[in-house]
Amino acid sequence: MATYRKEGINPLLISILTKKDLSEIPQSPPPSMLPGFYVRQVRKNISKTDKSVPERKHGLTCTACGKKGQYNLGTIAIDMEQFLQKGDSFWHKAFQCNGYFRCRYCNSAGNWQISRQTILFVNFTLMKSAMTGIKQDEIVHGKMCTYDGEKFRWASDAEEHHLRKLIEEPGNAWIWDRLGNLYLNGGRPDLAVAAFEESIKHDPDQTESHFSIGQVLLKAGLKEEAASHLRRVLITANKYDRLDRSDLRDLLTETLFMLLDIFEEMPKLLEFLPKADEIIPGCLESHAPDKTVILNFREINISLDKFEGMYPLAELYMNPKYKKEAPGVQSNYSQQQNTGRFGQKKKKKAKKKKKKR
Ligand SMILES: [Zn+2]
Repeated sequence: MATYRKEGINPLLISILTKKDLSEIPQSPPPSMLPGFYVRQVRKNISKTDKSVPERKHGLTCTACGKKGQYNLGTIAIDMEQFLQKGDSFWHKAFQCNGYFRCRYCNSAGNWQISRQTILFVNFTLMKSAMTGIKQDEIVHGKMCTYDGEKFRWASDAEEHHLRKLIEEPGNAWIWDRLGNLYLNGGRPDLAVAAFEESIKHDPDQTESHFSIGQVLLKAGLKEEAASHLRRVLITANKYDRLDRSDLRDLLTETLFMLLDIFEEMPKLLEFLPKADEIIPGCLESHAPDKTVILNFREINISLDKFEGMYPLAELYMNPKYKKEAPGVQSNYSQQQNTGRFGQKKKKKAKKKKKKR
């Protein structure tokens, strides 16, 4: 008999994480089967953590079991090119959403029938934004693509795509990191943290995964644990080549602001920050002058009332010669969400800091 679960988990995810055969995993696995150091604590504090994803519930019918339910679609993306073609299947081709959900009754995913109300909602929202010229938050115009350029209608289909790749390459930290982002954007920080933990298990220098774990743990109120992963961001950024220079700087800046939130005052933060020889061992020894990284906090000018004010400190943790565009990285899942992912916070952060003054 199927078990009712408000938040379902893909049995394939459990199978890959635990290295157990899929036949050993129940059709609707309980959360206790999810491995990971932080998963349980994040689940416990889940109401605190998932507020970052707006609640946009819509009625959907599961075509596998016939049951209806309200599910959080998250951000809807409409591919206007497909939408305007008005062919037989234009709606199917045009519509995407990034909320992660599975049927509460049978745990299947991706077999959804969209309600008439949702279709009307999308049409009216698009009409409203066309007539007023004001973009509506709930719907973005464009496509959401996976890191390898694939397009899926439901986040659970994109998840399946990542999991199939991970069956082939279970040790690929980069794919685990992308999968973690997909869960995070889809409103499932518990699944996200499990994926990010798996990522750093395979690559302890996966800077973005440390950043994301730090972010999730901070929201879950686990400050000390968050601080240790955010510190790893600063230590590993020097060699990280998956982001372009400006995104890496924004990620480091956001990291420093999160650490400042944890420590509350600048002197305590500066004391906690990793120093040169932790980043490049031996760099302070006299026989390695060409590798010297100077972290002289007193000489840099930091201003905390705007996001960019932290750049001089962030730049200390970057390789000064690093300026290449990230190779072979097309886009993260959900372009709208992730392009300028760290930049998006820029405005928010600046506002927050201004308020504090
Ligand atoms: Zn169902």
